[in-house]
Amino acid sequence: MRPPCRPLPADGRFLQAVGPTPLVPVRLHEEGPTIWCKLEFLNPSGSTKDRIARYMLEKAWRQGELVPGGEVIEASSGSTSIALALACAQMGLRFTAVMPEGVTGERILTIRAYGGDVVLVPREAGVHGAIVKAEELARERKAFAPRQFENLDNAEAHRVWTGQEILSQIPGGLVHGVVSGVGTGGTVVGLYQAFAEAGCPVTAFVARPIAGLGCDIECCSFSPRVPGVVDGMSRLYREADMPGRVEIDVSDDVAMSTARALIRRGFPVGPSSGLNYVAAVEAAKRLGPGAQVVTVFPDRMERYFSTELIQPKPVPTRGAA
Ligand code: PMP
Repeated sequence: MRPPCRPLPADGRFLQAVGPTPLVPVRLHEEGPTIWCKLEFLNPSGSTKDRIARYMLEKAWRQGELVPGGEVIEASSGSTSIALALACAQMGLRFTAVMPEGVTGERILTIRAYGGDVVLVPREAGVHGAIVKAEELARERKAFAPRQFENLDNAEAHRVWTGQEILSQIPGGLVHGVVSGVGTGGTVVGLYQAFAEAGCPVTAFVARPIAGLGCDIECCSFSPRVPGVVDGMSRLYREADMPGRVEIDVSDDVAMSTARALIRRGFPVGPSSGLNYVAAVEAAKRLGPGAQVVTVFPDRMERYFSTELIQPKPVPTRGAA
C-alpha cells in the first residue's frame, strides 16, 4: 500500500537546491585518460550527502516517522552529519550526530553552527562504536535514526537521482565504469544500479585507500587520511548485487597528492576525490580506449583546512635532529 502523502514543511524548500550538479571531463595528465567527474561538492552543505539526507528525511517525513520538532540521530564520520544538520535546520527538526573523537574541528563546528548536537565516542571505538551509541540514544529518545550504513534509501537516492542526472549528462548516455571509495557504499551501489538498469555495460570499481603509515582506528584497515572511506562496515554494500565488481588499491600518499593537484586545477575537493580520481584513471586503463568512466568528487576542501591536505607535513631533511 502507498504511504499517505504528507506535505513537506515549507521551510524545507531550500533543500530543492540539492543537485543537479555538473558532470565535467577532467584530464590531469596529458598522456592520461579523461574521467567524467560529478561535482558533488557543489551541493548546499558541501557534499554528496545532501542527496541522501534530503531523500531519507523526506521519505521518513512523508511516512509519518518524523513529526514537526522531532529528533534525528545519526552515526557519521562527518559528511552525512553535516548534511543532516542542514536538512534538519531547514525542516525544523532537532539533530544529534555521533562520531569518534579525532574528527576535524571544522566538522564539529559546522554541525553546531546549524544548531545540531555532537556526541563523541572514544577514538578507539571507531565508526562501529559511534553506530552502537547512536542506536542507544535513538531508542532512549524515540528519535528517527536514518542508519545510512544499512538504509536502502541511501543507495536509492543515487539510483533514482544522481545516477539519472549522470545518464542525461554523459555523451550518449553511456557509462562503462563507475568508480568510488566506499563509506556506506550508497554512492557506488546506487550509481551502478542506475547505469546497469539503463542497459549500460558497466563495471563497478571500488577504490581502497591503503595506509602508508598504518591505521590506528579499530574496525578500519584503510588509511584514516581519507575520511569517509572505511572498510567493511556497511551492510548495504556487503549485501549489494554488483556482479564483477573490481577493487583498486590506491596509496594514501597518491590520493592526497592527487587531491592537491585537483585543487590547483580549480576543483576545491577533499581527499576522497583524489582517491576516486586515481582509481578512475586505473579503471579507464583496464577498460581500454574509448571507455567512459564516471567518478564522484564527494566533498569540499574547506572541510580540511586544519589537515595535511592544505598544510602538508614537512618532509624531514637528512641529518635533521
Ligand atoms: N567521501 C566522503 C568525503 C564521504 O564522507 C563519504 C561517505 N561517508 C564517501 C566518500 C563515500 O560515500 P558512500 O557513503 O556513498 O560510500
